[in-house]
Amino acid sequence: MSLVDDLVVLRPEGLYCPPGDFYIDPWRPVERAVITHAHADHARAGHAHYLAAAPGEGVLRARLGAVDLQTLTYGAAIDHFGVRVSLHPAGHVLGSAQVRLEHRGRVWVASGDYFVAGAADDPLEANATCTPFEPVRCDCFITESTFGLPIYRWAPQHELFAGIDAWWAANAAAGRASLLLGYSFGKAQRILAGVDAGIGPIVVHGAVESLNAAYRAAGVALPPTRRVTEIADKASLGRALVIAPPSVQNSAWTKRLGDYSDAFASGWMQLRGARRRRAVDRGFVLSDHADWPGLQRAIRATGAPRVIVTHGYESVMVRWLAEQGLQASALSTEYGDEQEAREEAREAAAPAPEANP
Ligand SMILES: [Zn+2]
Ligand SMILES: [Zn+2]
Repeated sequence: MSLVDDLVVLRPEGLYCPPGDFYIDPWRPVERAVITHAHADHARAGHAHYLAAAPGEGVLRARLGAVDLQTLTYGAAIDHFGVRVSLHPAGHVLGSAQVRLEHRGRVWVASGDYFVAGAADDPLEANATCTPFEPVRCDCFITESTFGLPIYRWAPQHELFAGIDAWWAANAAAGRASLLLGYSFGKAQRILAGVDAGIGPIVVHGAVESLNAAYRAAGVALPPTRRVTEIADKASLGRALVIAPPSVQNSAWTKRLGDYSDAFASGWMQLRGARRRRAVDRGFVLSDHADWPGLQRAIRATGAPRVIVTHGYESVMVRWLAEQGLQASALSTEYGDEQEAREEAREAAAPAPEANP
């Protein structure tokens, strides 16, 4: 197969579809961009035209403002210069999509970021804040590999949220606020949808609330949330779960909380060094990305004989895929995960005690 036949190639601007003359999640300004989801590293400002999945319109506009945006419902297709383009649920955040491209009988799928539980198709394990990941059969699957190392295996969701609830309840009993740090788009809403809102009031940072509004407008059920300024008495703040982006850690914003315990929610919390570096009381391993078994299961489900690996642990994943008899290669993209990802990724790649459980 020659490179000319590839439906997606790497250009300085980003992943490019030559027959369709458009880009997927480009990192430099382009004429036409298909956007997999509204996280900042995938949905950048400055493109002339955007195409994205309809459920993500609100979150995209919350982040990019009044851009020229065309939306497609999941599964619907449009034709662009002979390339049939459709978007399919990725289970990562509200509106996240895999991009399916069909041209002259060949089908390629670019995953963007995706979340699929590793163990089985258990609806209880899905991300409750968006449409679950749907495998799409294809000839070539372009997969992310943010957590593409065997050490990454997520615990069942109910265990994780039971742990967060227990930490919150114990703090509430002691009259101490529970500050849970997590990315304000996606992670925060997943926490909100998963915790037991009966334990106490839930307070969110303004950055979280503006995304909550977009989720609620899209019909996602979230428990009632309040801003810290809306809570007058210290006693109810002492029973509250407070959800805020990692940037507030040790900032003046936290002084309003009085006595509090802090925790960090991220897939990187599986690494001891990441927990230590964060210097929080607790680390909860909660990710919107597939873990190692989830990546393997998702890749198998596509039936694709060829797999291209993007951001994450490309070399480990490519080696594993080749061992499975697949044609595997990597593409070097400029996507990164949450702010801390690169730093933590370096640690995970280095030999650590936890790498050999
Ligand atoms: Zn993402
Ligand atoms: Zn990503």
